[in-house]
Amino acid sequence: MSRAVVTGCAGFIGSHLTEKLLSQGWSVIGIDCLSPTYDTTRRRRVLDEIAADRDFEFIEGDIVQIDPRPLLEGADVVFHLAARPGVRASWSDFRVAADANILATQRLLDALADRPGIRLVFASSSSVYGSAESFPTYEDTPLAPISPYGVTKAACEALVGAYAAQTGLDVASLRYFTVYGPRQRSDMAFTKWISHALRSEPLPVYGDGSTVRDFTYVDDVVNASIACASCELEGHEVFNVAGGSPATLNDVLDLLSELVDTRIKVEYMDRERGDPDRTGGDTTKLRNATGWHPSWTLAEGLALQVSWLRGVLGRPLK
Ligand code: NAD
Repeated sequence: MSRAVVTGCAGFIGSHLTEKLLSQGWSVIGIDCLSPTYDTTRRRRVLDEIAADRDFEFIEGDIVQIDPRPLLEGADVVFHLAARPGVRASWSDFRVAADANILATQRLLDALADRPGIRLVFASSSSVYGSAESFPTYEDTPLAPISPYGVTKAACEALVGAYAAQTGLDVASLRYFTVYGPRQRSDMAFTKWISHALRSEPLPVYGDGSTVRDFTYVDDVVNASIACASCELEGHEVFNVAGGSPATLNDVLDLLSELVDTRIKVEYMDRERGDPDRTGGDTTKLRNATGWHPSWTLAEGLALQVSWLRGVLGRPLK
């Protein structure tokens, strides 16, 4: 049986990853500090469900505070997803983003430094490209983040590269492009929009809706991450993980209107700092390395997110 450590296991993507690893026969140690950023009660509920699996052990703790070394004992792979994600929050809360992203990653790398046999899969972000100079964007495109969040992820990639070069660690840094699906964070657009639509409230949209995003369904992201646990790697390698069918925000609003079966009202607002006009990732490198390709269409994935939120809103939200 393979053994994984998943940091950020209570989060949106980390909880799906943990469930899939367990369903594939892995044993998993999950670490999460349940940061108070969103829906702590709901994340705990999800963790309780996952904890029913006897091959799962949960450690509640902050990677910056705890010593991760004992938790790495016997591990084959560490999936490092713990972070303070989100472009908007990073402008006002840079210290939190710097600690949760850069410092936590450095602590983990330090613990991994004398265990080069353990593979690291690191959750980076398309935010490192900023307003990329070309589309689709390839992994060797120069990094030009336009938000503090993007800067922290670029710094993490540089740290990962330094540790890999100096210690012989094998690392896949995965640049996830806007991830969506059930359990998506409440600060992210789809969750906000669906919640507003189901309550017949106006949907807040930053900009005029022409912004393009390469939306990626969470199950595709999970599969890409697991594929990178065992693919051939030489030191530190970077891969785009993108959904493959970029859409404008207005396209999403049209789809959503059909799914909730009601005319939605939209409230257009000023663009936010740090939001690029467009994202779109080329995933040929990942496909060649692992055979992975995105399997979910935006319509399919969005329908599943709507049905999840219908269930959640039927229960009290904390
Ligand atoms: P999330 O906030 O739902 O999950 C992150 C989890 O990490 C949270 O449960 C939080 O409590 C935990 N955490 C934060 N700091 C910690 C620390 N120091 N020690 C232990 N636990 C800590 O976020 P998500 O959307 O699931 O994102 C997961 C990862 O993927 C992040 O690294 C994020 O930057 C990256 N990413 C996400 C997206 C996206 O669209 N959601 C896109 C690109 C990259």
